[in-house]
Amino acid sequence: MPIPRHASLLDSLAEASSISHNNRVYEMQGDGADIVTLSLGEAFFDIPVPSFDDLPQAKIHHYSHSRGLPLLREKLAKYYELDCGLPLDPETEIIVTAGSKAAIFMALSAILDPGDEVIIPEPLWVSYPEQVRLCRGVPVMTPWQDSVDDFASYVTPRTKAIIVNNPQNPSGRRLGVDELRRLHELAEQHGLFIIADEAYHEFVPEGAEFLSVGSFDPHKHHTIVCNSMSKNYGISGWRVGYMVAHQLLIDQIIKLQQHIITCAPTILCHYLAEHFETILEQTRPQIARVVSMRNRMAGELASRGVACMPGDATFYLFASLGKSRLDAEHFTEELLRRHAVSVVPGTGYGASCDRFVRISVGTEPEQRLLRGISAVAGLIEETS
Ligand code: PMP
Repeated sequence: MPIPRHASLLDSLAEASSISHNNRVYEMQGDGADIVTLSLGEAFFDIPVPSFDDLPQAKIHHYSHSRGLPLLREKLAKYYELDCGLPLDPETEIIVTAGSKAAIFMALSAILDPGDEVIIPEPLWVSYPEQVRLCRGVPVMTPWQDSVDDFASYVTPRTKAIIVNNPQNPSGRRLGVDELRRLHELAEQHGLFIIADEAYHEFVPEGAEFLSVGSFDPHKHHTIVCNSMSKNYGISGWRVGYMVAHQLLIDQIIKLQQHIITCAPTILCHYLAEHFETILEQTRPQIARVVSMRNRMAGELASRGVACMPGDATFYLFASLGKSRLDAEHFTEELLRRHAVSVVPGTGYGASCDRFVRISVGTEPEQRLLRGISAVAGLIEETS
């Protein structure tokens, strides 16, 4: 008997390259291999195992408000206003959801009609183009060499939005104030939404200020900010994120949430609401250490003649392969095979990034990071 066929749209959908690459690393580790893992998209923090004893026991195991627990929304609103420069009404302008991945997908679902175009600057985060396609939209990628001023040349009558990731995975780049202004001018001039993915906003160097993309559009006329606890709180497995947007849009998105997710995980949201400040106190010193480690490793690479795409934030480095004869896929393959070091090929971040590999410094101790960095520099040298 023939098996009923899945939607043809899925045939053209790519796997998330960093995730499929890491699955291979897990398999090799399962077979006993010792892999220096520079490919994971998170930073490991020491955080105490949570106790749920002090939470309201009658509520924590059940569905909760689809917009998010009121106390958590209030805390997030205060946090975003004080730390990111974007005031928001916790009653109407925020929704708590299951990670920022779901937030971005719901934002795209809420604004795209079939055939609408979304400008996605490279290096891009792997899920943006696929999520646009899932919404029957058309992703329009711009090469990494383009600046904000070049984006206007990609605008057509079908362009609906532009997605920016600030600070950026994989380069660690932060958009400057001038760039942010020009981005909003572009959005206003052409009637576009800006989807701002700020999932790494805590990972800026000490003393640097983070300004939300939304702070330039305080009435949230066209800006949708997506963020999450995954990276900033070191709890990616909890699946808690949020979105800030105009009340009218949130009122639409709440319907998507109700039909797809119902609510973010209630027990974890209660815990987060109760311990919001304490977790930040625990993670911020660890974030400072990992960002400074990132910048030290950039220095190590530079001293070995390896250039990185400009950036000083996150825990990622996007290293250029320079004169190596290998493309990013082959380089990654060889690095794993010859040196047992895993990185992610740049191709996953857009076609223009095939001369780069992403290095994450978030999960290995310093000595192993240095070993990995040395292997990357050595393989570039060997294959040049
Ligand atoms: N945006 C970017 C740029 C990311 O790198 C990730 C995760 N790797 C996400 C969003 C999604 O994170 P989450 O769904 O865990 O919030």
